[in-house]
Amino acid sequence: MLKIQTLSSGSAGNITFIGSEQTNLLVDIGLPLSLTHKLLAEAKIDPNSIDGILITHEHSDHIKGVAEFITKYDTPIYCHQKVTRILQSALKIPLHHFIEFTDDLTIGDILVNYFPVPHDSRFCLGYTFTCHNATVGIATDIGQMTSTMLTYLGACQVVVLEANHDIPTLLQNPNYPEWLKRRILGNRGHLSNLDCARAIVKLHQNQVTQVILAHLSEKNNTPNLAYNTVKQFLLTQGIREGQDIFIDVALQSKIGNCYCLE
Ligand SMILES: [Zn+2]
Ligand SMILES: [Zn+2]
Repeated sequence: MLKIQTLSSGSAGNITFIGSEQTNLLVDIGLPLSLTHKLLAEAKIDPNSIDGILITHEHSDHIKGVAEFITKYDTPIYCHQKVTRILQSALKIPLHHFIEFTDDLTIGDILVNYFPVPHDSRFCLGYTFTCHNATVGIATDIGQMTSTMLTYLGACQVVVLEANHDIPTLLQNPNYPEWLKRRILGNRGHLSNLDCARAIVKLHQNQVTQVILAHLSEKNNTPNLAYNTVKQFLLTQGIREGQDIFIDVALQSKIGNCYCLE
């Protein structure tokens, strides 16, 4: 059995739960401890049961609550050797909180694979998690999809994938300076709804049956806009949402649906 559930997703803070019969993990803690507690309680997850935290990258919407959480619960951070120093200096916590790895890794009964994601952080990672025959994956903060990412994510049944912005909404947003628009649209920025949809077409050709749209911009997207853009694009490719593939949307500071694979 393998579960995946977003507890919060978006530019204001990200947390995702991965759980099996024996092992509970969090990917990123980008919200303060009080809010993290509230969301874990709503999802009926005991914070003491978390066996490890994996971090995608050092931006504050992914790490804001990590130091507070591990100080209270003494939870290890599983961390690729390449990013230990970056995360340690960003989090300002002692080295003994980190368990370093250099290769694929097993935590309890979950196999963790990682892959690089192009983004304007020092080093950004995506992950897949496998337990028995079930595999789920997560990739957000994506400047552009790569063939490596598609290979890893294509092996999953359930994927949490960034649908950050609607391009016309972003371009017309008078509150966003030009440099910021360029950063978001750049190939180390964030994935648009349309590029997310294009990636889903490729993922659909593999194992993926459920995609959770994630890391939506609060200013340049809405859950309906993301869902409808993806649904319409898939239709133009002959893929029917709700029949050929299922699309869900993860929300900011709200627990999402829990997907449980046997
Ligand atoms: Zn980021
Ligand atoms: Zn982010």
